[in-house]
Amino acid sequence: MTATEIRSGDQFLDPAVRAQRQLELLQATLNRAARAVRHHRERFAAAGAEPEKVESLADLALLPMTRREDFADHYPYELFAVPLRDILRIHTAPGTGVTPTVSGYTRNDLSTWREILSRALSAAGVNAADILQIYLDPGLANWGRDYKDGAEDLGASVIPMTALSLAKQLMVLADYRTTVLVTCPTLAAKLASTLEALEDFKAAGIALKTLVLTGEPVSARLRQSLESRLSATVWVHYGLSEVPGPAVAFECEAHEGLHVSEDHFYPEIVDPATGMPVEPGRAGELVLTTLTLRAFPLIRFRTGDRARFIDGPCPCGRTLRRIAWLPERADDARLVRGVKVSEGQVLAHARKVLSFNPSGYRLRPGGPGDAFGLELSLSVDDAMFSDEIKMLENQVRRLETALNQELGIPVKVRLIERMAPAAGSNWINGDSSDAH
Ligand SMILES: [Zn+2]
Repeated sequence: MTATEIRSGDQFLDPAVRAQRQLELLQATLNRAARAVRHHRERFAAAGAEPEKVESLADLALLPMTRREDFADHYPYELFAVPLRDILRIHTAPGTGVTPTVSGYTRNDLSTWREILSRALSAAGVNAADILQIYLDPGLANWGRDYKDGAEDLGASVIPMTALSLAKQLMVLADYRTTVLVTCPTLAAKLASTLEALEDFKAAGIALKTLVLTGEPVSARLRQSLESRLSATVWVHYGLSEVPGPAVAFECEAHEGLHVSEDHFYPEIVDPATGMPVEPGRAGELVLTTLTLRAFPLIRFRTGDRARFIDGPCPCGRTLRRIAWLPERADDARLVRGVKVSEGQVLAHARKVLSFNPSGYRLRPGGPGDAFGLELSLSVDDAMFSDEIKMLENQVRRLETALNQELGIPVKVRLIERMAPAAGSNWINGDSSDAH
C-alpha cells in the first residue's frame, strides 16, 4: 500500500469518528486563526464569539463569516497565519475586486493539496497508465499545478498546463494519445466543436477516456453532449480560488453528486439572506471552513456558490458527505471559464483606463464558437462615436489588455452605438457552453 492509499482510507471512515476528528481539527484551526490573524481575532471579538467555547460542530454557526471583500481589505499577507519564512509558495489568483486574491502554502499545505488532488483523480479512475493533459486558462494557473502534483503522485504521465493555443492543445491531445483531460466545461465544449470541424483529427482517433471538468457547474445536458462528442466519461470537480484549490469536492464512480473532502474542509449550507443553516436537503449558499490548512485558514468562507447536501449512503462506499453543485450563484459574480468575474471589478478597471463614461455596458461569457472568454460591450453616444473613434479604439485595446491580464482569460472589448436598457442584469447569457 502506498502512502496515498493509506491516507485515502479516510474517505471510508465511520461518520461519527470523522465528526469527532473534524471537531478536534476545527478547534485547533480556530485557536490558531484567533492567535495568528488579527482579522479573525477582531471579528470573533466583535461578534462576542470565543473560539474556545466551540464545543460542537454546530457551534461553528455562532462564529462570523469570512467574505470575499476581506481578501481585498487584508491584501496581501494579513490573512496568513504563519510567518512568511514558513511559506513555500505564494499564489496570486484573479480576485473579484481590484486587488488579486493572494494565498500561501506551507510545506504541509502543499502535501495536503497533493493528497486531495491525487484522491480526487484516483476516484475518476486515473492511474499510472494514463497520459493526463491539463488545459486551463492562466487565471487558474495554481489549479494547474495542483492537478500536476496530484497526477504525478498517482504515477500518471502529465502534460502540464502551457500557454498553447486551442489548435495546439488539440494536436497534443491527438498525437500524444492523451487519455485524461483536465479542463473547464467551456473549454471542453470549444474543443469538441473544433474537433468536429477537423477531419484530420477524426481520422487520427482520439484516445481520450476521462474528462475532468472543474471551475464551473455542469448541467446534465452539457455532460451528455460532451461525453458523446468526446467519447469520454465526465467527472466534475468543485473548487474555488479563495480556499484556494480545485477538487474541494469531487465525483466518484457513482456520479451522484460530489463528495466533499470533509477531512480538510467543513461544509455548511446557509440561507444567503440570513446566514442561517437551511433545512436538511434544501439549497443554499455553500460556506467552507478549512480544517487542515496552516498558512491560510479560512473560517466560514461564503463561497457564493449554491449547493444542497445529498444525504444517504453513496453506492461507492465513501462516507464523505455529498453535495449537488447548482448552476446559479448566491452573489453577483459569474464563473467564466472557472474564473470568478464581478461587474464591479470589470467597471473598476474600465474607470481606470477609459477617459469617457460609457452610457451602458453588457458582459457576455464566450461560447464554443468565440475566441474570447468574456466580451464587454460599451455603448457610447453617436456624436462621440463618429468624432473620436481612433482615440476610443485605442483606449478599448488598453482596457482589453488590462482585463486579459487581471482575469487570466481572453477578454474582448467592443464599442457599440446603441444599447437597449438592461433588464435587471448587465450579464447576457448569449451563446453559452450549453448550446450543443
Ligand atoms: Zn460516491
